[in-house]
Amino acid sequence: MLTVDDDRLQRAQESLTAHGLDGLLIGPGPDLRYLVGYQAIALERLTCLVIPATGNATLVVPQLEAPAAEASGAERLGVSIKPWAETDDPYALVADLLGGGTRVAVDDAMQARSLLRLAAALDTTPGLAGVVLNGLRRRKSPAEVAALQEAAAAIDAVHAAMGEWLLAGRTERAVAHDIAEAIRGRHETVDFVIVASGPNSASPHHEVSDRVIAAGDPVVVDIGGTTAAGYCSDSTRVYHVGEPARDYAEAYAVLMAAQEAGVNAAVVGAAAETVDAAARGVLADAGLGEFFIHRTGHGIGVETHEHPYLVAGNREPLQVGDAFSVEPGFYVPGRHGARIEDIVVCTESGPVRLNHTSRELHVLSR
Ligand code: ZN
Ligand code: ZN
Ligand code: ZN
Repeated sequence: MLTVDDDRLQRAQESLTAHGLDGLLIGPGPDLRYLVGYQAIALERLTCLVIPATGNATLVVPQLEAPAAEASGAERLGVSIKPWAETDDPYALVADLLGGGTRVAVDDAMQARSLLRLAAALDTTPGLAGVVLNGLRRRKSPAEVAALQEAAAAIDAVHAAMGEWLLAGRTERAVAHDIAEAIRGRHETVDFVIVASGPNSASPHHEVSDRVIAAGDPVVVDIGGTTAAGYCSDSTRVYHVGEPARDYAEAYAVLMAAQEAGVNAAVVGAAAETVDAAARGVLADAGLGEFFIHRTGHGIGVETHEHPYLVAGNREPLQVGDAFSVEPGFYVPGRHGARIEDIVVCTESGPVRLNHTSRELHVLSR
């Protein structure tokens, strides 16, 4: 069962009213899971949660999906389920439920085919519900922090067993297959597995290849999944087959300091971009600035990447309950790279890391 705090719909209604909207229209995707705990399939038939400014929300679902919608527990939150039959017009039904309101916003994941028909039925151009929902989703409740901690512990356990699978002579793909099995054992879904060995480690979003891992390789392993409670894990550690060369070991030590500086900068009230600047500054001071080619981190919750983003230019102040990755790296094209990634939560008493495996370079003996 997905973890859903029961005040989310009410807070969404307060916020949509404050934004001058008549309603939110939410299709299958992370916002729907977040608001009512329903993991709907995105079909060509319309599924849409209609949240009016006042009164109860209604989940419009194809008749054949009604049992699944009921099983989600959404009704427990005061949502009524309104099935539509194959010959009904679900778009007219949504317009009816809004009672003439046309100032509406749709979730980011709304399918274009649904969005265009909704816009026609309402004779309006909807906005994006992010103005209402990003702020809500950012601020994690204690139950959500606990769910993220559980996800972090699950991925930590996979990293802790890495030596069983990550061996010289195996391909990245074979290693990734075993890692995926281990993630599946501790999560509901496997979201991604990056095994980037040798020169592949210089590509931040390399996934896997048939390259055979060899002695002398650094191997960047970035992995994540979603737990049964619906929350995501995401952690990167770097392994090295045999002792690293001196230049790599030195650069790695700088990266550890950069990651530490980023985490320490994640205090309530600081602008999101200061976390990026803190990590980037340490790498730049050591002459590695040009090799750190991505933002320092992203929020995490019911999605792996969500607000807030830790990137230059984002002056939003960090708040209690913000949860995000701190993942600086360096990538030297054609040679090698590294990244260290932990999930961090902002609390009144400072930043708290959720991942606890060692951030040292893990030297593998075989
Ligand atoms: Zn990423
Ligand atoms: Zn990652
Ligand atoms: Zn990440």
